[in-house]
Amino acid sequence: HAKGEGRNNFQYYRDSMNSAMVERANMESKLREAIRDNRLFLLYQPQADLRTGEVIGVEALVRWKDPELGMISPSTFIPFAEENGLIVEIGTWVLEQACKQAVAWLDETDYPIKVAVNVSAVQFAKGNFQEVVRNTLARTGLDPAHLCLEITETSFMEHIDRIDVVLEEIRELGVLIALDDFGKGFSSLNYLRQFPIDILKIDRGFVNELSTTSDTGAIITAIIAMAHALGIKVIAEGVENTQQLECLRERNCDFVQGFYLHVPQDGRKIPPLLVIE
Ligand code: C2E
Ligand code: MG
Ligand code: MG
Ligand code: MG
Repeated sequence: HAKGEGRNNFQYYRDSMNSAMVERANMESKLREAIRDNRLFLLYQPQADLRTGEVIGVEALVRWKDPELGMISPSTFIPFAEENGLIVEIGTWVLEQACKQAVAWLDETDYPIKVAVNVSAVQFAKGNFQEVVRNTLARTGLDPAHLCLEITETSFMEHIDRIDVVLEEIRELGVLIALDDFGKGFSSLNYLRQFPIDILKIDRGFVNELSTTSDTGAIITAIIAMAHALGIKVIAEGVENTQQLECLRERNCDFVQGFYLHVPQDGRKIPPLLVIE
């Protein structure tokens, strides 16, 4: 009997492994299709000045809606696309799309909006990322001062040998650099002085605990003070309620982003938000 069970378990294991592989292959071909047929799209989440409430920028967030699978979260398909390399193509498309959109807003509103674009460590590893950025700016005509690239510490850890050169070149173009998800992993304080960073984004995990845990408040106070001492501005991510907003205000946070203020939305909904009071 036991023997039979073992076999079934093995069979089960093999079947589920196969189906996982089939699923991956299926997902990869669907993602390729989506890229080819231009079915990825971007939403934009406003980032606001904490003191005035003015929208100072938006973060471009990629979305994938498959006719059969439905909406697939970027937390699922971005890591997948990083594994199979599709992220390079996706990332280039996102950058171009976001730059074009920013140019359209700037023309339409004359408001000095900035667009932030997430960049994967895999894109840096390709080696020609500076050129991609330079060419995209040239093609779209976006003033580099209106572009911010959000990178995570993974980029620093995995490509530490050349990332400083790449970042310097990008920075020389006049593009801003933000360190995303700060505090989520092993975020070294050293990154802040070692690399040319303009903006630090406090991970939403910290912000989430703000209203309940006092230790988190102390850590955020320290992060903000340290960033400011280094001439770095701070954005808090994932602000979901007024208590968090007030805690951040008390701690001199510069900018906020989160569902409490604005959810990610279609590009057409952004211009009405761009008003100087
Ligand atoms: P991220 O760059 O840290 O982006 C912020 C994420 O937090 C977004 O999730 C946003 O919708 C979500 N968010 C914003 N405010 C709140 C809030 O108040 N509460 C909560 N719970 N969440 C909030 P999203 O759009 O699902 O993206 C997840 C991650 O996927 C992003 O995290 C980023 O790492 C990655 N991603 C998204 N778009 C791109 C892209 O174009 N390129 C690359 N490389 N990665 C991307
Ligand atoms: Mg204009
Ligand atoms: Mg981001
Ligand atoms: Mg983040």
